[in-house]
Amino acid sequence: MPGIDTATLQRLDAAHHLHPFNDNAALAKRGTRILTRGEGCYVWDAEGNKLLDAFAGLWCVNVGYGRKELGEAASRQMTELAYYNSFFQCTTEPTVRLSAKLAELCPHDLNHAFFTNSGSEANDTILRLVRHFWAVQDQPQKNIFIGRHDGYHGSTVAGASLGGMKGMHKQGGLPIPDIVHIDPPYWFGDGGDMDEDEYGRHCAKRLEDKILALGPERVAAFIGEPVMGAIGVYIPPRNYWQEVERICRKYDVLLVADEVICGFGRTGEWFASQTFGFRPDVMTLAKGITSGYIPLGAVMFNDRVANVLSSRGGELAHGYTYSGHPVCAAVALENIRILEEEHIVDRCRTDIGPYLGERWKALAEHPLVGEARFVGMVGALELVPSKSSRAYFPDRGRVGQLCRDFALAEGLILRATNDAMLLSPPLVISRDQVDELAGKTWRALDLTARELGMATG
Ligand code: PMP
Repeated sequence: MPGIDTATLQRLDAAHHLHPFNDNAALAKRGTRILTRGEGCYVWDAEGNKLLDAFAGLWCVNVGYGRKELGEAASRQMTELAYYNSFFQCTTEPTVRLSAKLAELCPHDLNHAFFTNSGSEANDTILRLVRHFWAVQDQPQKNIFIGRHDGYHGSTVAGASLGGMKGMHKQGGLPIPDIVHIDPPYWFGDGGDMDEDEYGRHCAKRLEDKILALGPERVAAFIGEPVMGAIGVYIPPRNYWQEVERICRKYDVLLVADEVICGFGRTGEWFASQTFGFRPDVMTLAKGITSGYIPLGAVMFNDRVANVLSSRGGELAHGYTYSGHPVCAAVALENIRILEEEHIVDRCRTDIGPYLGERWKALAEHPLVGEARFVGMVGALELVPSKSSRAYFPDRGRVGQLCRDFALAEGLILRATNDAMLLSPPLVISRDQVDELAGKTWRALDLTARELGMATG
């Protein structure tokens, strides 16, 4: 629609577009922000505001905005062969090349890719195929998935059921049967006086207790985000995932890592299982696989699971029209080429990640900040009424929103969950931009504290 003005777009949006994860009536009153352009770590809105995107879209624009090579890869593939499916004995060259590339990049024997359009569909896929894995080995009763309260694994029926968001379960009659949840590691809210190792063991033991309560012969898999994103960047104790792996092996429970946020460099390694030193049997991917330029998700299966599915699984009665879409695969290959050739993940681990971490953790000095957590290129600030206690603000969520709105007015995009401010910038952020980000965050904290009548930093 050439020349259409912002007010008209907002009016049409309010009239015809239902937004995900929004109170649509409230949104229609406020009017949506219309984004028009992106370059590097910045986006511009229709009013001409330039915003530093410290959230990389939705944890996904890892290589930054405006990379022409990605558009060119899509355009080349669309011209050559815009679509073909992976059903009926067929595939396409980019799809095959991406499968092999993922097998090379992913740790140990996660050598087999199943393609989806999104992270949610990737998690739906594991629910079905992992249950099928046990069923074809004469253990159909081994079908229970254990997830975690407050975990996020997507919005489809299985994804939202595997996740532990109570507000999501309330809508649509979830979770579906044979999915149960345990408490996650959340040091700030739950750690008490335990040291890191003790707390890690304590949280992992919740899994063992649940497996024993259900009976190991009933438990198909445990699924978790290595770092829990949407709920507020909960970073587990260092030993947590190794303990979880030990317990899964002991009871022959498959270990599924949801790396939809963590994959492709977010925690300073290609995958968070490398950061935390554990070996998942199955891994789900999306977001950073294409830096969000085009929708794509994938499930990576290890040799054990894939061999059973191939040799005994019969016809896999599961798949999407766009599983392995050649244009999405071509964009993913180009995105991975950029990440590799520009040493972006290495730079996160050795240079910009530590610098960002130092600046982010220094924000803990602000009177409003109860904890500053950070790993790799992802973090959160827990906003509190009083530094000396681990209490929350009474009307949880209000202060986080205030701070988010002040940040936006300063030209910085941060996300707020409850009263935690979440950080997940493009991996290509420069030192100057990190300084800008830290300065604007401090200012937003100051303005929030002033609004609340607290002393400022
Ligand atoms: N898993 C995790 C850990 C996520 O953060 C998300 C999305 N934020 C999903 C799954 C779902 O991915 P999608 O929105 O692509 O369906």
